[in-house]
Amino acid sequence: MKKIRFYKSIHVKIVIIYVLLILIAMQVIGVYFTKQLEDQLVDNFRSTLNERAELVAYNVEQEMTRDEEEEDRSLQLRINDLLNQLFNMDNAEVQVIDQNQVIVTATANHDNYVGQRTTNYRVMRTLAGSDDEAEVFRNRTTGDRMQVLAVPVESEDDSIVGAIYIEASMQEIYNQIQEINQILLTGTIIALLLTAGLGVFLSRTITRPIVDMKTQAVVMGEGDYSRKVRVYGHDEIGQLASTFNELSNKLEEAHATTEGERRKLASVLTHMTDGVIATDRHGKIILMNRRAEEMLDQSQEIAMNSEIMKILNLDKFMRLNDLYGMNDPILLDFDSDEEETILEAHFSVIEKENGQENGLIAVLHDVTEQEKVEEERREFVANVSHELRTPLTSMKSYLEALSDGALEDPEIAPRFIQVTSNETERMIRLVNDLLQLSKMDSKDYQIIMASMNATTFVNQVIDRFEMTTKNQDIQFKRRIPEKSIPVMGDRDKLTQLLDNIVSNAVKYSPEGGTITCTLKTEKERIVISVKDEGVGIPKDNIPHVFDRFYRVDKARSRNLGGTGLGLAIAKEIVAAHGGSIWVSSEWGKGTTFSFTLPYDLNEEGDGE
Ligand code: ADP
Repeated sequence: MKKIRFYKSIHVKIVIIYVLLILIAMQVIGVYFTKQLEDQLVDNFRSTLNERAELVAYNVEQEMTRDEEEEDRSLQLRINDLLNQLFNMDNAEVQVIDQNQVIVTATANHDNYVGQRTTNYRVMRTLAGSDDEAEVFRNRTTGDRMQVLAVPVESEDDSIVGAIYIEASMQEIYNQIQEINQILLTGTIIALLLTAGLGVFLSRTITRPIVDMKTQAVVMGEGDYSRKVRVYGHDEIGQLASTFNELSNKLEEAHATTEGERRKLASVLTHMTDGVIATDRHGKIILMNRRAEEMLDQSQEIAMNSEIMKILNLDKFMRLNDLYGMNDPILLDFDSDEEETILEAHFSVIEKENGQENGLIAVLHDVTEQEKVEEERREFVANVSHELRTPLTSMKSYLEALSDGALEDPEIAPRFIQVTSNETERMIRLVNDLLQLSKMDSKDYQIIMASMNATTFVNQVIDRFEMTTKNQDIQFKRRIPEKSIPVMGDRDKLTQLLDNIVSNAVKYSPEGGTITCTLKTEKERIVISVKDEGVGIPKDNIPHVFDRFYRVDKARSRNLGGTGLGLAIAKEIVAAHGGSIWVSSEWGKGTTFSFTLPYDLNEEGDGE
């Protein structure tokens, strides 16, 4: 969080507000107070001055109008005495002027004016009979403020016989006001200092819980709800702090619930066998579970925020809007060089409460196996129909030929009948093989396992083939141990299995070829191999020879009476015995088919 600058903090703001308040209050009080005080003092001064002036004027008039003859002292001395008695004010100068404008007497500092005619216009105006208003002016030399006043000396018949001119310094008043101002200033400074201190203290009490709450909010933002704000009192801030703590508790609970739900959802999504992808309104991926990552071979980090249309390779066929109205699933082909993958995608729309489309959810289902099975089934049906149609068509044409007259021909008729009979047999074989395979495919298929001697079993099969192939120039070699080897198996099924392999070896062996039958014992199983010196199987075809209806050379196999199901049946029989079957072959040189069988563990000395 950004650090608050010192001058922006509440502390400083509160202190400044306090200081300003006090300053303004003190200023207002100070100005008003000093103004009032000044007015009062000046008024007092003026009235005192006036009273005295009038008193002096009265007495001076008495002295002036007295008969000079009777007096032993001159007028000047008498008035001087009078002034000393009545006007002993400091910082005040008085002149007494007679009606001829001559200064009769004056106080000490104006002594040298005595006897001179005054030029003072106030005095002259007063002598002329007009009233004088007191006036203030500054003394040029001292700079003091002076109150100036001229009072007429009136005789009993109201004629003006002289004037009193007074100059009194008001400096004392202003000094006094200055002192009071000084006291006020000192008081203001002390009040300001105290207020600032108090402001700091007060703002602390307000800001401390707020700072606490701020720190708590920061910690809560980081997911830690364990801290609590200290409640300092029961005022509004105290209530705010306790509400904050309650809020923190509720948030913690809500967070825990959300977290729990999130975990549940995450766990469900992670362990789902289907892939799930969620997008926003614009088709950008916002969620992808692990299964979807595996299916699409894309990591979530990379796929995040990518377009779903691109990730699902749909951008070439459709637009995002098409997915929003889509109810049917679509199949996605994700075949790679290594493996085949077909995914079925179901799309549903995420809607807001107001029904507005807000995104998509795609559920991906791996249908590779299903599709494979379906494909195999279709192929199988096609193969069966094809296999049956060939002999039926051939039989139909032979029978038509026979009915068209060939039957009358003693030479052709038996041949044609032989062909139709061969085709019928082939069809019967085919149908039997199919029946057997379908039985093996059914869940109830069971083989009857019994202990049997592998040596005699193999020998008997070879003996039988030696008998049936007497006419053909084929040699049978046996590499079979003398001793009996007990194995577990279903004799009939195993006979069919070995018959299929040996009959193939006979079919594909050239004249004079040798077929070698080997029985090897291994630690946990026996291996029976049949090797021929026939045409062999090309390398590319080897992996498919056990597939149903698979034939390397279709025409040749059909001519030899093959159905293409022999090795498929062989494979099923071996699998039912818990063994394995494989082939190794070299084109043009020969082929070896091998399969394994388990020992009969109940017999003593098995396999050793
Ligand atoms: P078929 O009835 O056609 O013999 P099988 O399932 O027995 O059907 O064999 C499948 C194919 O495997 C045959 O068509 C043939 O091409 C090939 N095959 C089987 N055994 C041999 C072998 N011993 N030598 C060469 N090719 C073989």
